[in-house]
Amino acid sequence: MDFDTSRLFAIKRLNNFIEENLVKYSKLRNFDFGPDNRSNISCLSPYVSHGIISEIEIINQSLKKFSFVKNEKFIQEVLWRIYWKGWLELRPNVWLDYLEDLKKLKENFKNNQNYLNAINGKTNIECFNYWVNELKNHNYLHNHTRMWFASIWIFTLDLPWQLGAEFFMRHLFDGDSASNTLGWRWVAGLQTKGKNYVASEWNIKKFSNNRFKNIKLNENPIPVVDNKSYSILNNSFLNANLSKSQDLLIFENNLSFEQSDFNNQSFKNIYFVFNGNETRQIKLDEKVINFKRSLISNQIKDLNNKSLNCKMINIQDIKDMKESFLGFYPSIGENLDYINSNNIKNIFFLYRKIDQYSWKYCSKGFFNFKNYIPKIVQEFI
Ligand SMILES: Cc1cc2nc3c(=O)[nH]c(=O)nc-3n(C[C@H](O)[C@H](O)[C@H](O)COP(=O)(O)OP(=O)(O)OC[C@H]3O[C@@H](n4cnc5c(N)ncnc54)[C@H](O)[C@@H]3O)c2cc1C
Repeated sequence: MDFDTSRLFAIKRLNNFIEENLVKYSKLRNFDFGPDNRSNISCLSPYVSHGIISEIEIINQSLKKFSFVKNEKFIQEVLWRIYWKGWLELRPNVWLDYLEDLKKLKENFKNNQNYLNAINGKTNIECFNYWVNELKNHNYLHNHTRMWFASIWIFTLDLPWQLGAEFFMRHLFDGDSASNTLGWRWVAGLQTKGKNYVASEWNIKKFSNNRFKNIKLNENPIPVVDNKSYSILNNSFLNANLSKSQDLLIFENNLSFEQSDFNNQSFKNIYFVFNGNETRQIKLDEKVINFKRSLISNQIKDLNNKSLNCKMINIQDIKDMKESFLGFYPSIGENLDYINSNNIKNIFFLYRKIDQYSWKYCSKGFFNFKNYIPKIVQEFI
């Protein structure tokens, strides 16, 4: 399984998946056949999470092949990402509390043998050790495996979910503050309070296609409890006024300028912002950093070929920008944290239309959000 960093590669992967495998997606998507056989799922998340291709493009292409009804499961999965993002945008303190907890836990667990065995793939659970190595080698895990992994981490290895979420962020090419943090909270039983996800031997055996057996797990755990409650922010995510003579910043979540809602506007300069490990609270594996850098470089190459004036800058350079400037909204996560913690006030955000439209439906659970999916699809496709 490889993840080339060009948009062309991502488009080919999308088209190939739709032509060859989408038809069986809802039947086969839960099977993890191993890293050498990923045709039952799209493996597009490293591209969608960086905005190399968009949810609208994916849904659009899939609807050229199959009707909405035949495609419903896939469309729902594609829109989970927007839902998780919106959910977190409405409750930014969930992210801030996570980082606070993480700081303390990292200190407390730095010499904990149970934790060190887990991150080094040296537990007595064979499948777990295999996934640790798979994650480190391929920087990707199947969705069902992420659920099993997180469940074993929390309920059998008895480790804090926050450290597991950090471990995923460090190694995943698609590492995303909303999908990852909330995915881990969901497994722990904090998203739907009291409802945890419990990995079981029969389920792993069946959906790993019998690759793993004889797995001794805690199959009757109680959900993680947390007494914090989060009120919903009243934010309408309105765009800043556009002006031709302003610079535009593009962060790692929205890298394709050409696919953006603002591709017809002219900007003074377009700057792609690179955020390296010096400025991140969660330090990323070198391969993940290189993946991001290479995605950015390829976008710049594509735009330069079309005579658009753009270049890469480091996130620290923003502090020296004196005039006011625009930025594609980076979403809750390390880039926005940098802007806020450095008190950068001269940046004004532009939001994606689909986020502005969909995030208002993210105050409750996904089952509620699902009711609005036909409306969202009708509006944007
Ligand atoms: C504990 C845990 C942590 C996770 N961390 C991340 C993360 O950091 N980044 C990330 O992108 N996803 C994360 N996910 C969600 C999901 O596992 C991946 O998006 C998915 O496995 C990507 O593989 P794919 O592209 O082949 O998915 P497909 O099954 O082919 O789905 C198509 C697209 O739909 C979206 N999607 C599918 N399932 C989900 C989901 N549950 N949540 C959000 N979007 C989804 C993705 O953009 C994906 O590319 C996490 C899930 C769990 C349970």
